[in-house]
Amino acid sequence: MPELPEVETTVRGLANVLDGRRIVRVEARREDLRRAFPKDLGQRLTGARVTGLGRRAKYGLIHTDRADTMVFHLGMSGSWRIDHDRLEKHDHLLIETDAGRRLALHDPRRFGSVDLVVTAELADWPAFKALGPEPTGEVSGAWLKQRLAGRKAPVKAMLMDQRVIAGLGNIYACEALHRAHIDPRKAAGSLSRARLDALAEAIPIVLDEAIAAGGSSLRDFVSPDGELGYFAKDFAVYDREGQACACGGKVRRIVQSGRSTFFCPRCQR
Ligand SMILES: [Zn+2]
Repeated sequence: MPELPEVETTVRGLANVLDGRRIVRVEARREDLRRAFPKDLGQRLTGARVTGLGRRAKYGLIHTDRADTMVFHLGMSGSWRIDHDRLEKHDHLLIETDAGRRLALHDPRRFGSVDLVVTAELADWPAFKALGPEPTGEVSGAWLKQRLAGRKAPVKAMLMDQRVIAGLGNIYACEALHRAHIDPRKAAGSLSRARLDALAEAIPIVLDEAIAAGGSSLRDFVSPDGELGYFAKDFAVYDREGQACACGGKVRRIVQSGRSTFFCPRCQR
C-alpha cells in the first residue's frame, strides 16, 4: 500500500511531466474507482493548464488554471505510469499533455479515487476538513502533548489517527516510534514532553529518509512503462520480526487495532 513517501515521490515525478503543461486529452476508461469519476472530469480538465502540484496527507493534488484541483488517492495499489508503450488492463484514466507525454492511472484493486475540487475550497473539502497537521515538519512536541493529553489509547494508534497527524501510516508510525525509543503500547497521554519532543523530531526524519530513497528511484520513470512511486526501502523495525535491532535486541511483532506493529522491546521503553 502506498504510504506518504510513495505519494510524495509520485507527486514529484508527475510534476516533471505536468507542471506548466496543458492537458490536451483525458479519457476515463471506466466510470469509477472506489467511487465514480466526476462526470465532467474530461470537460473540466481538457484544455486546462497545470499550474502546480502538491500533496495533502496521502492525496496528490494537481492544480489547474481553471481554479480546479484534481485530487487523487492511490488507494491500495494505485500508481501512475508514464509514457507507457501499450495500455494495460488496469489503466483506468489516461491524460495526455501538449508536450506529448502520456500518463495512465493504474489501479488493479480500484481502492483509489479521483475528484475535482474548486481550488479555493480545498481546505473545506470533506476528506481534508478533519485532517490534522502534516507530519513532514508541522508537528511539535508541544502540540502532541496538548493533542494527546488524557488519551489512554496506545501511542501507535494515536499516531495513525488522521485527525491527530495527517498521512502517517503503519510503516512510518512503527519507524518513528523506534527512532524515538518509545514503546508503541504506551498510553499516548502518559508520555512526557521530552519524549514527545523526540517523537515529533523522529517523524519527519523517517519520512524524509524514505522520500529521499524514493527520489533516487525517480530516474526509473523516464524508462518506458515506468511506474511512479514504488521503491525498495530498508526499515529499522518494520517487517523485521525476529531480526536483530541495531541495539542488539530482537524485533517483535504484535497486533494493535488489527494492524501489525513491529518494535524492539530492548530500546523502545
Ligand atoms: Zn533496539
